[in-house]
Amino acid sequence: MLRMSRNLRMFVQEAVMHPSDPRDPATAPPGAGPRRRRAATTPSAVARVPFDRVECPLLDAVLAMSFDAGELDNLLGDERAGGCACPGPRAAIDAAHRAAHVPDGAAARRLERVLDTLHARELEALDALGLDTATEVLVGRDLARVPRLAGWVWAVARRADPDADGLRSYLVRALFLDGFRALGAQASSRPTG
Ligand SMILES: [Zn+2]
Repeated sequence: MLRMSRNLRMFVQEAVMHPSDPRDPATAPPGAGPRRRRAATTPSAVARVPFDRVECPLLDAVLAMSFDAGELDNLLGDERAGGCACPGPRAAIDAAHRAAHVPDGAAARRLERVLDTLHARELEALDALGLDTATEVLVGRDLARVPRLAGWVWAVARRADPDADGLRSYLVRALFLDGFRALGAQASSRPTG
């Protein structure tokens, strides 16, 4: 049986059965309850992808969803300077991304600590419940409606388990497409005339 606190169980329930989600099982036909989950791995046995080797697009997504530019500047400290390839509103994310790839860099260690703390609930939930739960939370949904999306993406990105590769690939593509859909939904992006 899963060893999981009541709070964590309720938190995951909330993510899986978000009321604004059109796939909310509460509105599904009778008998179409959530799938049974596979037995979970012991939390302490779950290894993390080293911070400097987290998949690049997922790192960008989590940085962009977790911080504003001022917060990133503060976190980077002296390492925020340098020729940025991505000027304008994306500069801070670009600088943080480059800092994150420096193994054992001071800014990398700060970013790792802050991201793991900020997203501790999702890391813990994925450790306790396994990939089936993350799949249930993330796949087939409008990502903009997933509560605490940044944390779920971070937990999947940090999961040192080859079985997570498929979900990572799915997320890269889904984040890319949902980002474009969000841009397209803005009236100013649309063709006129
Ligand atoms: Zn990278």
